[in-house]
Amino acid sequence: MKKTNIGTRAIWAGEKDSLAFGATQVPVVHSVSFGYDDMDDWYEVAVGNKEGHIYGRNTNPTVQAFEEKIRILEDAEAATSFSTGMAAISNTLGTLLFPGDRIVSIKDTYGGTNKIFTEFLPQQHIEVELCDTGDHEAIEKEVMKGCKVLYLETPTNPTVKITDIERVAKVAKKVGAIVVVDNTFATPVNQNPLALGADLVIHSATKFLGGHADALGGALVGSKELVEKVYHYREINGATLDPMAAYLLLRGMKTLKLRIDRQNENALAIARHLKTIDIVDDVFYPGLEEHKGHDIAKTQMKGFGGMLSFSVKGGMDTVRHLLPKLNYSNRAANLGAVETIVGPARTTSHVECTPEERAAMGIPEGLIRYSAGIEDIEDLKEDLNQAFQSLPESLTVKG
Ligand SMILES: *Cc1c(COP(=O)(O)O)cnc(C)c1O
Repeated sequence: MKKTNIGTRAIWAGEKDSLAFGATQVPVVHSVSFGYDDMDDWYEVAVGNKEGHIYGRNTNPTVQAFEEKIRILEDAEAATSFSTGMAAISNTLGTLLFPGDRIVSIKDTYGGTNKIFTEFLPQQHIEVELCDTGDHEAIEKEVMKGCKVLYLETPTNPTVKITDIERVAKVAKKVGAIVVVDNTFATPVNQNPLALGADLVIHSATKFLGGHADALGGALVGSKELVEKVYHYREINGATLDPMAAYLLLRGMKTLKLRIDRQNENALAIARHLKTIDIVDDVFYPGLEEHKGHDIAKTQMKGFGGMLSFSVKGGMDTVRHLLPKLNYSNRAANLGAVETIVGPARTTSHVECTPEERAAMGIPEGLIRYSAGIEDIEDLKEDLNQAFQSLPESLTVKG
């Protein structure tokens, strides 16, 4: 079959083998086990010689449709899924890294990932080297010293820094390192790390893939060989995606292209609008020409994503007044939903870090993370305007 465009794939891909009874929509199969009358058939499926399902911790038809859809969206050989994005990350690292191994990554990874790097991996005698995000020379130098895994996230949370995947993946190949990229912020609509040289791509499906903030999930795509290893680790350790969550994520993914196109547009318009507001200090969005990673983002991304962040004069004092005034934003820890979501980075993505750790990562205490929803842009701008106008004079004058 001719390969279709991503919007069409988001709707149709991966579902056929999980349909039943002539249903046009993938059914939610809640059964934890799958029965067999033929003992030989059962055995053949159990040992993997024949397609089929045995037990819900391993595989499930609804979950399989989710895995197939993300596999096809990322144009990968294989995919597997997890109960959360963090489970995707911890199970992948747990599969690949052993005591004495070395991993190179960046300082600006997602807060939970950063905790794995700074707390859990060192406990297992795994050496972790975290480079300044965006410092390609430093990353290359550390990779060339030898490492088992190069772990990237681009754009990063919350200051949306960009790493040139193709450039550092080339260096990783020289030392035989496995390149893992967290593609949560970009989604397969905006960026395909496998095409840029990555070996494995991770998603927190909880965010843009699902898009409706009503289901947790994670995904991993890449070569059959690597994905099967991680699948085996996951099936035994048990961080399985729930069938109901898989269904909700599947339904959300049907509108992925529509949503991401709109979120790309809205985020860029909001970033440009914030630049015109006096009390706004700094705006971070890779779609702005002055953003440090703009040129790289322009070549490796098809769109700049729905995430931006900005800092305001007066720090947390201003944030405390400003955010509660917004009528069309949830003040919450998640991102990537159809509704606009705002929150201070110190309370959301980087709550696990100390103020010193945040400062070291270049995250001001008053940094606001803004996840653009799919609302009408005029309303979002208007909402920000009225919130800024409502600030007490003491704050605006101080600015
Ligand atoms: C949210 C997030 C995760 C973790 O995903 P959960 O589904 O919350 O476990 C990992 N990476 C990034 C970039 C995220 O935004």
